[in-house]
Amino acid sequence: MNTRGYVATAAHTDLVPFEFDRRDLRPHDVAFDVLYAGICHSDIHQAREEWGGSLFPMVPGHEIIGVVREVGPDVTRFAVGQRIGVGVFVDSCRRCERCRAGLQQYCTEGMTPTYNGYERDATTIAFGGYSNYFVVDEEYAVHVAESLDPAGAAPLLCAGITLYSPLRHWGAGPGKKVAIIGLGGLGHMGVQFAHALGADTTVFSHSAAKADDARALGADHFVVTSDAAALADHAIRYDLIINATSADLDLNPYLKLLALDGALVIVGLSGVPIQVHQELLLAERRSLSGSQIGGLSELQEMMDFCGEHNITSQVEVIGAEYINQAWERTVASDVKYRFVIDAATF
Ligand code: NAP
Ligand code: ZN
Ligand code: ZN
Repeated sequence: MNTRGYVATAAHTDLVPFEFDRRDLRPHDVAFDVLYAGICHSDIHQAREEWGGSLFPMVPGHEIIGVVREVGPDVTRFAVGQRIGVGVFVDSCRRCERCRAGLQQYCTEGMTPTYNGYERDATTIAFGGYSNYFVVDEEYAVHVAESLDPAGAAPLLCAGITLYSPLRHWGAGPGKKVAIIGLGGLGHMGVQFAHALGADTTVFSHSAAKADDARALGADHFVVTSDAAALADHAIRYDLIINATSADLDLNPYLKLLALDGALVIVGLSGVPIQVHQELLLAERRSLSGSQIGGLSELQEMMDFCGEHNITSQVEVIGAEYINQAWERTVASDVKYRFVIDAATF
């Protein structure tokens, strides 16, 4: 099917309009008209080759919401007219222990990324969600509550799950003190989830102007990190701190704020190696970990949680012609709090 999207043809070039074909439907495929596609900072890192190994031409986008247009003959989970969401991967080996446990994001053979990678035939480049039409195997898509604003729901597919998964894994809930570093696309979802799960929630931000927004999203405390003394003197000791910034950040001042057995979990991926003072880990049996998006069952669980609690991303909806400016503004932390592209403009 002829599809219209936006493409990066090489690192550091502007994205431009692009036409390409999506595959014909296989028996378990679902075809959908994209409504909205979120702009994740990972799109920018990858198109600018900040993580190395980028694959061009690249149609970015892994926060995709649409309405089912057509289903393959063996599809059982979706019907025409239903809402559908696709996140960061569109396939995996389906056989390994992790896949069978619902942890497809850690597939031992490697997940098939929604873009910037090859499909499982190892020859077809996967094109992502900055496009008006999408085809996906039904097992790798989720249902999205009709009650949610579809533009605000798109970022749940990456930003949402990337924070929901570690919050659940490390037990965020009543009686726990949780902090999120960086009130960006990921961070502002983390604040809402931590608050909804019942944790005492702090935002660490290098943007003083975000204080009111942080509180409105559910934060109990807001700390401006550009004030090194305020950070050092901060009295709360945390069970869990999640670094959701895109920047090369010194994590040592945050390790100091962990309680005994506390965990600092990295989800932000600047691509720059970090240095850690070992004694900060030893002294209080603290741990430093990472977390990568979430598996399919957890993605559906989060979607349902959002439906029940009416949680969505705060978005600025843009037309496709604004993508390059939106990327610049994202890098400058100048977005509240996620750009979402209206797919009707492709
Ligand atoms: P984003 O919307 O650009 O937000 C990043 C936030 O980082 C900014 O809002 C800002 O928050 C903070 N920040 C930016 N520059 C900073 C600086 N110089 N010093 C300190 N803080 C700074 O990005 P995003 O889409 O949320 O993504 C965040 C990171 O997570 C990216 O690296 C992305 O690639 C990665 N990611 C990882 C996964 C995963 O599976 N682990 C999934 C998706 C994305 P304040 O203004 O509040 O300080
Ligand atoms: Zn993402
Ligand atoms: Zn697997």
